[in-house]
Amino acid sequence: MQNILVTGGAGYIGSHACKALKAAGYQPVAFDNLSTGWAQAVQYGPLVEGDLLNPEAVKAAFDTYRPVAVMHFAALSLVGESMQKPEKYWRTNVNAALNLIEAAQAAECRAFIFSSTCATYGEHDGVRLDEETPQNPINAYGGSKRAIENILRDFDNSHGLRHVIFRYFNVAGADPQAEIGEQHVPETHLIPIVLDAISGKRPALTVYGTDYHTPDGTCIRDYIHVCDLVDAHILGLKRLLDGGESRIFNLGTGSGFSVREVIRAAEEATGQPVPWVEGARRAGDAASLVSGSARAMDELGWVARRSDLPTMIADAWRWHMKEGFVR
Ligand code: UDP
Repeated sequence: MQNILVTGGAGYIGSHACKALKAAGYQPVAFDNLSTGWAQAVQYGPLVEGDLLNPEAVKAAFDTYRPVAVMHFAALSLVGESMQKPEKYWRTNVNAALNLIEAAQAAECRAFIFSSTCATYGEHDGVRLDEETPQNPINAYGGSKRAIENILRDFDNSHGLRHVIFRYFNVAGADPQAEIGEQHVPETHLIPIVLDAISGKRPALTVYGTDYHTPDGTCIRDYIHVCDLVDAHILGLKRLLDGGESRIFNLGTGSGFSVREVIRAAEEATGQPVPWVEGARRAGDAASLVSGSARAMDELGWVARRSDLPTMIADAWRWHMKEGFVR
């Protein structure tokens, strides 16, 4: 069985990728420092507890497992925090990725799948963002991810390390079997916070800004189910293992929903009201981020199957009703 090194394999998206890899016949090797991930989320292959900022630990993982490809999910990923501590985001995300990329190249692992983000595009005022849209990130999170995209481009040009870069829109939902799901401490993402407000884990959702230049004044995002997202990663992996060229793909559905629309959908999916209050805008938030994702469909044959709001919220709710992981 071929090994795939999955950094952040104990985290939300990484653990779902491990499940999909196992189902597709690969052995996922999770590499995670467990700073935000959960050992209990690593259910589909071995866990290597290590830090990407330690080049020796990264090299040891390549020596032990000889992975044929890397999926790199591990990163600091909070837009708000990246505005307060840009140095932390630049240092951690870029150094970790560079250590990993250099180790992959040294180990002659020739396929690298990278989690990038729509935050690399910045503010484009309602325009549907496709892969050719100019990148002008407005927060350090997006800036650090764009820098890593550039590093990958250079390593392809100079060393033949081929990559697939996926620029994610807003990832939501959970494994339909509820074996794994989204669990951040602290939680900052909209849908889990909406569910916390419904179940009384927190008093209310604060809506960050109701005066945006959008139809109902709240921010618009393009939500994609985590299972659909990781399906695209399997297709991207096969592309590279079959000898395909490096390529960048957006992953979203092309449909945008406002914060108010998400609240309404959650009320319908759960049959319960969402307590919420109006709050100030959050620094670094673009008014609207909606993808053009035709390329992933056309070139990878990717199809989004669970990325409608009711299904994403129902899957997240099923996971929410479980106890969750404990450290
Ligand atoms: N949001 C909100 N209240 C919250 C969390 C998020 O109003 O407690 C809004 C946020 O301003 C953004 C959208 O919900 O417009 C999605 O935010 P999230 O943090 O889930 O993802 P991001 O777009 O930052 O990656």
